Amino acid sequence: MSQLGTLESGSRHDLHVGMSPDAPDEDHLSEEEGLFGYAHSYETSSRYDGPGLRIVLFLSGCLLRCTYCHNPDTWHLKDGTYVSIEQVIKRLADFAPALRSLGGGLTISGGEPMVQLPFTRRILAAAKDMGLHTAIETSGFLGDRADERFLSVLDLVLLDIKSGDPDTYKRATSRDLAPTLRFAERLAATNKPVWIRFTLVPGLTDDPDNVEKIAKFVAPMKNVEWVEVQPFHQLGSFKWKAMGLEYKEANTTSPTPELRKRVIEQFQAAGCRAR
Ligand code: SF4
Repeated sequence: MSQLGTLESGSRHDLHVGMSPDAPDEDHLSEEEGLFGYAHSYETSSRYDGPGLRIVLFLSGCLLRCTYCHNPDTWHLKDGTYVSIEQVIKRLADFAPALRSLGGGLTISGGEPMVQLPFTRRILAAAKDMGLHTAIETSGFLGDRADERFLSVLDLVLLDIKSGDPDTYKRATSRDLAPTLRFAERLAATNKPVWIRFTLVPGLTDDPDNVEKIAKFVAPMKNVEWVEVQPFHQLGSFKWKAMGLEYKEANTTSPTPELRKRVIEQFQAAGCRAR
């Protein structure tokens, strides 16, 4: 059993490793009550991760291995800080009045928030009780875990579709695309608001055919409010080095404004509201 630590404010770009060496593997987590969990950090004033001003909580644990991940220190539970649900709710309550008055809320990101689904659900439910708008950022890979109880405390899903072509998806993430598409279809069937996020990585995800597959899949979905094209950046490269990981994107550059424009226009041409 890990020792309780302190939930740290900071930045998603801070390196956190080895905080809970006794934590279970992320794919063997059996915490069903959600009374405790593993967290990387939280940011208090994001304007990018949902509507209004957001507090963003980064939870540990992810089963994907994106070659361009800027937070590899969120992959393993053992790198996160072991915290109780009370600690998280108390911290959230400190910010709730300001978030409410600014029309904002809570976004839980990671890592992957559905690795620790009961813990994530409890936090979202507490945020709803405080009158906050709630969101998660997810790859959707574990979408089959999201039951009605979980979806009922979620106002918005920021769904990362990392590629439209299954082979490219596998090359980029080491996992299969199908569970993400299945989750997107479920969200569409229940009209749950969604912002699709697509990370534009030159030489990996920028192929017009790869983009077109996502655009055509998403365009008919009335619940999708935005498609956001996010440029790859190198802000996380130091983490790969510090953690002794082989970083395949070491020489990849950020997309040019022209390339980003081409991709946004490709989504728009398919009928998506893209930015
Ligand atoms: S899903 Fe997110 S946290 Fe997980 S490996 Fe990919 S970019 Fe990193």
